[in-house]
Amino acid sequence: MKNRRLITFLGLILCLGLHTVSAQSDYFFPANARFDPKIPTPEQFLGYPIGTLHTRHDAIVGYMRELARLSDRAKLDTIGETYEHRQLVVLKVTSPENLANLDEIQAAHVRAITPPIQEEDLSDQKSIVLLGYNVHGNEPSSSEAALLTAYYYVAGRHAEVTNGLKDAVLLIDPAFNPDGRDRHSTWANSFKGDPMVSDPIDAEHNEMWPRGRTNHYWYDLNRDWLPLAHVESQARIDFYHQWYPHIVTDFHEMGTNSTYFFEPTKPFGSENPVVPRDNYDGLNNLFAGYFHESLDEIGSLYFTKEQYDNSYPGYGSTYPDIHGALGLVFEQASSRGHLQDSRMGKVAFAFTIKNHLTTSLATVRGAVGERETLVNHQRKFFRTAVEEGKKASGGWVFGDQTDDGRNAEFIDLLTRHKIKTVQLNEDITLKGKAFKAGSAFYVPNEQSQYRMVRTMFEKVTNFYDSIFYDASSWTTALTYNMPHERYTGKADLDGKVVDRNFDGSTYIGVEKTSYAYLIEWDEYYAPKALHYLLEKGLYVNTAFRKFGLKTNEGEKEFGYGTLMIPVARQEVNADLVHAFIEEATELAGIRAYSVKSGYSTTGIDLGSGNFRTIRQPKALMLIGGNVSSAEAGEVWHLLDDKVGMPITKVMTSSVGRVDWSKYNTLVLPSGNYSSLGKNTIDRIKQWVREGGTVITLRSATSWAVSSKFVNEKFAERPKRDVPARMDYVTSREFNGSNAIGGSMYMTDVDITNPLAFGYTQRDLPVYRNHSIFLAPSSSPFRTVVQYKENPLLGGYVNKTNLEKLGGTASLIVSGLGRGSVIMFADNPNFRGMWYGTNKLFFNALFLGNMAR
Ligand SMILES: [Zn+2]
Repeated sequence: MKNRRLITFLGLILCLGLHTVSAQSDYFFPANARFDPKIPTPEQFLGYPIGTLHTRHDAIVGYMRELARLSDRAKLDTIGETYEHRQLVVLKVTSPENLANLDEIQAAHVRAITPPIQEEDLSDQKSIVLLGYNVHGNEPSSSEAALLTAYYYVAGRHAEVTNGLKDAVLLIDPAFNPDGRDRHSTWANSFKGDPMVSDPIDAEHNEMWPRGRTNHYWYDLNRDWLPLAHVESQARIDFYHQWYPHIVTDFHEMGTNSTYFFEPTKPFGSENPVVPRDNYDGLNNLFAGYFHESLDEIGSLYFTKEQYDNSYPGYGSTYPDIHGALGLVFEQASSRGHLQDSRMGKVAFAFTIKNHLTTSLATVRGAVGERETLVNHQRKFFRTAVEEGKKASGGWVFGDQTDDGRNAEFIDLLTRHKIKTVQLNEDITLKGKAFKAGSAFYVPNEQSQYRMVRTMFEKVTNFYDSIFYDASSWTTALTYNMPHERYTGKADLDGKVVDRNFDGSTYIGVEKTSYAYLIEWDEYYAPKALHYLLEKGLYVNTAFRKFGLKTNEGEKEFGYGTLMIPVARQEVNADLVHAFIEEATELAGIRAYSVKSGYSTTGIDLGSGNFRTIRQPKALMLIGGNVSSAEAGEVWHLLDDKVGMPITKVMTSSVGRVDWSKYNTLVLPSGNYSSLGKNTIDRIKQWVREGGTVITLRSATSWAVSSKFVNEKFAERPKRDVPARMDYVTSREFNGSNAIGGSMYMTDVDITNPLAFGYTQRDLPVYRNHSIFLAPSSSPFRTVVQYKENPLLGGYVNKTNLEKLGGTASLIVSGLGRGSVIMFADNPNFRGMWYGTNKLFFNALFLGNMAR
């Protein structure tokens, strides 16, 4: 009966119902394949045929470990672990002779691409193939394909495998995102019926918020190869730079009604400006031949060139292109579940796995067949990088004089990407910008990572195209709000090369006092110290005016937002206050100053009413429903990682059970909150009137304005000249060009507003990927961040939108009774790489109730 049901529902994987080794191999593998019977198939190891269940991550690792244990062709490396302590593993597969000499092969390969690159005999060089799978956890077919791919090369006895492995080293990374994968797999397996239900509305095909695409913190790891905000990407990049593969795969799933996609992506419009053209014009077309031949053979439909983006450097298929490799994205129509109806019949999980397996094998075939081309491409890539960098001459100087924490984070990013960075010995002034020795750094152009240097510092505003799948700007120096300037001198600047262990901490310990301590607020990690002190129950005040006075380190000026902790009026004794100050500043890596007198030499005295006591935030964030899991995850990760502060996450479906008296701060990430219902919204409004602070992000801001939660307005919408009649075929291009898809703009910040305390310059780059045009506040004092006229820094925007953006608001605050509503039009925490605007969010959290 069971078999009959499978035949009826699953003609395609009929063979799977027979439960025999050869039947499954027949379905998945080419006819000429022969296997070593001593190596278990995935099915023998797992106890079920591939495609009939979603394989748990620990079982994937278990199978890889078993292959390494049994075979002289394979070795398993653990390269890191996820937040939920799942192992990140790579199975290295090559011929037994190569495996015995793997360290030498690796060293010879890296030497061959390290400048100065000499002419040498390359006939011994191997193709290094990084087969990466399943970065999006709910696109699960690829990890199953990884199991079959590993089996194929470890157990295969036919010539394609045995000869191929002499020329190639396969690095099989079966799951880029194990936490997300298991979240999805558990869902799909839990709802699987017997017989299976292919109806798309069935729960099996519609997983629950936040879904499995993302990692533990709901981040898209296929955007994280550049920002490296997460442990998975950090481990992966370390491994990447040990191997510099020649070819890298990145497998995905798309809509169930689609077919299959392989590169080339859309010509020109989807390409990254620093990648040499021979990648797109040469390698991509060369490999497309391998892919279409193998898919033609199994009768699979596919498309190429029409779409998909290859420009943003944080993609798994683009980052390799900027490292002399060929990065390849593959997209398979998803069965999302085990079997689902589509417009062209049923899509079975096994079928989706088979397609990804087929292109995996084609990738290796191509890597072996085109070995010399790939080796030469990569060597030429790094040789020309150095030549172009030398021709460009000079480099970039950067550094913030007041924020060592942010400097250290930026240096950490540069060094993780192997970008040579030097700490300068002397002060330097470039185009009027002063950089001070100690907090001044230099990145020379002449280095093999020159193209990554361009990625970090150059602004791009010219584009072939107007449709962007994602971001059109990624200038990292701007996301860190890092003061930087081009240095065009011929001679390199002198200094010491910094490495990954660069320590940005300025903590030196502070002398005990019985009067007061001061902590500057312009340090990135000051909120971490503040949170610690509030947790310890100390009264901490913030300065609403500048002042100067004598400290243990001499006369010193202090800016807006400086924390002032008096000693005598605390509820603990002076010894404990001192101990807490030491612990907090050491934890945050910042400095505290002690004073013996509150009498200032300039500005306000320490007893002034312009010092106001900070309320400890008791924060709650709504999640679930239509709330953006990405933005919610960014807030959650920011507070965990950068502040060490807990935030209560409440599903919108549970909001009726909230005891609002326990909280004073509510975070609303993008979403439409009308679905909460009038009673709940009225309850929240009442809570704000009694003193609560609401922080809205992006479309939540839009909701607050349009639902009249606050009395603010949108700016007049841009009107575009639209011809009365246009050709149908141009509609996508025309509509796309009106969207604002991930670009950077310059704003003016009112640095005297508590929401901007800690900023020392009025210029601040922000990120915009939406079309919300927020009018300045009805009060002249409450537009904290405003777009400058002609504000574009980088990325694509059309002329009409750009003209209308000038003068609109990026951040405003509105009063409501005794409370305040803080409205971000732009997301200050985007992708964990906007260190520059994070401080606005920290201020909203800690000082938001004083901002109105
Ligand atoms: Zn994907």
